[in-house]
Amino acid sequence: MIATNTRRPEITMLTEGQKSRILNEVRRKAGTCPACGGREFIVGDALYLGFLYVSENLDAYMIALTCTNPGCPAPRTGTRLPGSQFL
Ligand SMILES: [Zn+2]
Repeated sequence: MIATNTRRPEITMLTEGQKSRILNEVRRKAGTCPACGGREFIVGDALYLGFLYVSENLDAYMIALTCTNPGCPAPRTGTRLPGSQFL
C-alpha cells in the first residue's frame, strides 16, 4: 500500500533558485495561462519526461505551474523545459 503523502520517485522537487530560473524562462518565453491569459505563476515540482517518452529530448522536464489569477477557471498548468535551463 502506498501512503498518499509519499512523493512519487519521478517527481523532482525544486529549490527556490531553480524555481526562480524557471519563472525567468516562462517570462522570457512570454508564457501565458491557457485558461485566463495570466502571466504570473507559482512553480511547483518537475516531472522528468526524458525516459518516459521516446519523442522527448533526454533532459526534458514538465514543470507544474499554478496561475496566480484568483479568478482563473483552471489555474493548474505546466510548461516543458530542458533541465539544462534550470537545474
Ligand atoms: Zn489562469
